[in-house]
Amino acid sequence: MKEKNVKKCYSCNTNMQYAEKVPFRIKGTPGFWKLIVGEWAELGEEMLYLDVYVCPKCGEIRLFADEKAKKSLLKLTPKAFLKNCVACGKAIPIASEKCPYCGREQK
Ligand SMILES: [Zn+2]
Ligand SMILES: [Zn+2]
Repeated sequence: MKEKNVKKCYSCNTNMQYAEKVPFRIKGTPGFWKLIVGEWAELGEEMLYLDVYVCPKCGEIRLFADEKAKKSLLKLTPKAFLKNCVACGKAIPIASEKCPYCGREQK
């Protein structure tokens, strides 16, 4: 399981703690998640899951999509939620820990 992977905070490089798996139904997503998932409303009623990690030091939050969410989001993620793979340069969701195209870990 990926829980074994250590997530480092982008800001202070502290090991992040796994907080919870957050289910979100796109329709009627409450405020906070709407802020983050925004345009993903396009996905329809599908239930997706995000893993939430929190930095115990500075409070930074990082989100990771599970396999199913990753595939769905890859199709529909708006540009604002994309970053470029460090290895192959393709546009991938900002929450990706690995490039879905070349498999390279994103730092
Ligand atoms: Zn931090
Ligand atoms: Zn790549």
